[in-house]
Amino acid sequence: MTTTKKPAAKKAEAAKAATPKKTAKPDAPKKAAKPTAKTTAKTTAKKPVGPIQVDAIDAHPEFDMFTYCELSGETRIEHDLLEELEPRFDGWAEKYLRAYKITDPAAPKGGGHVIIWLEEPVEEEIEGVWQDSPSAGMSFHNLAIHMVMSAAQNVVPELADKGCAPLPKPTPGILKAFEKLGLVWNKEGTVNRQFAVFTRMPYSDGCSVCILRPKCPNAVDD
Ligand code: SF4
Repeated sequence: MTTTKKPAAKKAEAAKAATPKKTAKPDAPKKAAKPTAKTTAKTTAKKPVGPIQVDAIDAHPEFDMFTYCELSGETRIEHDLLEELEPRFDGWAEKYLRAYKITDPAAPKGGGHVIIWLEEPVEEEIEGVWQDSPSAGMSFHNLAIHMVMSAAQNVVPELADKGCAPLPKPTPGILKAFEKLGLVWNKEGTVNRQFAVFTRMPYSDGCSVCILRPKCPNAVDD
């Protein structure tokens, strides 16, 4: 139930509301606090970190019979096999080889990295050959490894002496860049492509940055 106030009471309330409130005396200006060690210390502002850069690059792998034989554990290649390997090498390089430079300014040493991989059709082709002949499948499998390593050595020449590519832990920014390229990083230290190389570009720090180091029999102190 609502109640209606009498006119006199209303008048009194209106007058009360109209009366300006007393304004409080302005406070005396406060003394500035003495600077303390904390306030005088320079604030170390974080430097702004630039955006991640992803650039397609040209990587030119070269078929090298000596390296291929070494990789395959063979001393020679049959002529017939060589005739199959060489055109495949050129065809894969032209159609399915991908190479990108990813630069994350938040990563050490300028943040440059390279990711190189062969697209899925190469994996399918090798799998198909494997079904018919495991030895031929193994030969093409080794060819694919030779190709991505040779492409990596083309853009990071120091890898040729090393014989392998130090595998750094990707930064969160690089993981995002991988996603944009259709790649998924696995915790085992691989991407979702069977033939791929990820390493720093330019070369730096060797085995000390390689996440395979704890289990690698060839690790050295760089
Ligand atoms: S730890 Fe092993 S795989 Fe990694 S760069 Fe060194 S030798 Fe190569």
